[in-house]
Amino acid sequence: MTFRQARWDEPLLWDRESSDDDPDPVGVIPGLPASLRRKSPLEWPELSELEVIRHFTRLSQMNFGIDTSAYPLGSCTMKYNPKVQEMLARRRGAAEVHPYQPEETLQGELELFWRLERALARITGLPEVSLQAAAGAHGEFAALLMIRAYFRDQGELDRRTEVILPDTAHGTNPASAAMAGFQTREIRSKDGCVDPAELRAAASDRTAAFMLTNPNTAGLFEPDISEIDEILHDVGGMLYYDGANLNAILGVTSPGRMGFDVAHLNLHKTFSTPHGGGGPGAGALAAGEKLAPYLPVPRVVKRGRKFALDYDRPKSIGKIKTAFGNFGLDVRAYAYILAHGEEGLRHIAHRSVLNSNYLGKRLGTLLPRPFRPLVKHEFVLSGAPLRERGVRTLDLAKRLLDEGVHAPTIYFPALVEESLMIEFPETESRHELDRFVEAFTRAVNDTPENLRTAPHSLSVSRVDEVRAARELILSRKDLGAAAKLEAARPDAAAS
Ligand SMILES: *Cc1c(COP(=O)(O)O)cnc(C)c1O
Repeated sequence: MTFRQARWDEPLLWDRESSDDDPDPVGVIPGLPASLRRKSPLEWPELSELEVIRHFTRLSQMNFGIDTSAYPLGSCTMKYNPKVQEMLARRRGAAEVHPYQPEETLQGELELFWRLERALARITGLPEVSLQAAAGAHGEFAALLMIRAYFRDQGELDRRTEVILPDTAHGTNPASAAMAGFQTREIRSKDGCVDPAELRAAASDRTAAFMLTNPNTAGLFEPDISEIDEILHDVGGMLYYDGANLNAILGVTSPGRMGFDVAHLNLHKTFSTPHGGGGPGAGALAAGEKLAPYLPVPRVVKRGRKFALDYDRPKSIGKIKTAFGNFGLDVRAYAYILAHGEEGLRHIAHRSVLNSNYLGKRLGTLLPRPFRPLVKHEFVLSGAPLRERGVRTLDLAKRLLDEGVHAPTIYFPALVEESLMIEFPETESRHELDRFVEAFTRAVNDTPENLRTAPHSLSVSRVDEVRAARELILSRKDLGAAAKLEAARPDAAAS
């Protein structure tokens, strides 16, 4: 297929109407049937380069990013992503490889998988790791399928139909359990932690697994973790570790030491690769001896000095993703681990816990803290007292945006009334923490009217969240439909 070279004095395609009897209009593939040709000229936007640059630069400045300010989004661990990791992920050897190249030409990439798996095995205290899953929730789902497959092999699947969860569980936990075909059973926490008596009452020979985050989403380390391990294993169930945020325990303790059988880690949280906005992610899975044979294929193996992909795992749950996971994220995570080393990773845990306790103590003078004051990487406040002034946690979160910081996580965990969940990762300095305290103080003490109408300084004020979800605009076609809806609104003429 060739394009005919246009002569400099020929009219350009968009300067004239094409007609069906024109045998070979300029710029059109010779022989293209008339029915496939444009009937009207293309509507090119008539803008200069400068106008385009200004437009997109302005748009980019309306956005919020870690490079401009802190993200105290509890449970999400929004840390700074060092630029050197980006540089490495964009090198040709990382960015331009194809997953279906012959294995001999992928030795470096396979070695990176293998080394990252070994590092994560050491960090989690669980011997076997798979890097296939594309997100935390994907890892949870895969692990639950592994648990199903295990109980099927034990001849216990008919009986083991339940997954137990505490009421502090991240929303993806019950969703993954339900998708994997289990019934979910929630147990009530006591002072923000698992109540062993509740767990004992719920656990039985119907229990397939108990899913737990530790430290949990209230930022508390479960003091009864050894008893939890005992209760679950006494009834023959599996202990599942939601390790989306490992910040608080890196190099200090591990799911393996706590007695867990399987864990997922969000490389896109703890190991500092970009996330938010729907991905991409990387949910590494680490498994103990019982569940390791069920990990997804392919597994990366080392044979002599060569690395290979091994599909010959008869017990595996099979393939869960095209290709071999999100390779770019693995490169960043591996670079991050190497850059820190074991001592450095431990330092991250210490610093993130220190940050969170410092901030928790200071903000605790403004709003009540529902649980014991000593926390790990995050803490929870309750905005309930604001109600007396007709203000809700949502208003406070919106008002914080005017201070140039991102809002914390709100209304989660659900067991705290009007909750705010705050995490300032180790990457944030004391100066940033103090600035946040000042911003928070100004926001809490603002007038109810200002709080209820915030934000005032951003390009978009309050959005109608229900409408935004119901009338999703994802394409130009939706945009047209939305404009029609807008015009048809009874109050449209007035505005
Ligand atoms: C973020 C998170 C998840 C889910 O991870 P995704 O990558 O968003 O699917 C699960 N559990 C906890 C505790 C989390 O913070």
